[in-house]
Amino acid sequence: MQEKLEKLYQECLQELEKVEIKIQNNEAVGQVQIAISKRNNKRYGVCKQQEPDQSTKYIQKIGRRKIIKYQKYNKHLIEISPWVMQLDDSIIKNTIMHELIHCLPNCSDHGKIFKQYAKYINTSLGYDIARVGNKEQDYKKSNVEYDEKRQYKYKIECKNCKQTFYRQRFNKNFTRKYRCGKCGGKFVVTELTK
Ligand SMILES: [Zn+2]
Ligand SMILES: [Zn+2]
Repeated sequence: MQEKLEKLYQECLQELEKVEIKIQNNEAVGQVQIAISKRNNKRYGVCKQQEPDQSTKYIQKIGRRKIIKYQKYNKHLIEISPWVMQLDDSIIKNTIMHELIHCLPNCSDHGKIFKQYAKYINTSLGYDIARVGNKEQDYKKSNVEYDEKRQYKYKIECKNCKQTFYRQRFNKNFTRKYRCGKCGGKFVVTELTK
């Protein structure tokens, strides 16, 4: 899976190069690393920004709140969620591209400049980068059955009334500490296999 990610990542970099967006530029962009995230998150991917460039610090006012922001970060760690890796290559690449834009200066959020890059990449390279993806549509396009449960690690079920819910994580003491809110029954936890 790591190999596949690396291959698609290289393709994305080459395509960006073709349209004059140079990600591999330590001076202007910083260092980029990519990996598959260890946890099966709900989100498609994330770009963790590290080592802010102190000379690009500025204050953003949101209402009465002031937030310290940086135009540029020197290190970006992209993580792609494992469930995305089972989808069509075009969707994996779409996710990689989305996170790569976040590596560019002034693009750590989905603001005006992020949108401009997304639009440019969409039209010049035929991508479909949006602020958030449409999971149902992306599974369909990949011919993979869409199942919300797929993204959760644990199934918690009431032994008595069979009320069921799903969790990414849960406290070890959960079954000992809690009872079903509907009927007071005990819970059983099953780990869902991927
Ligand atoms: Zn984003
Ligand atoms: Zn119950």
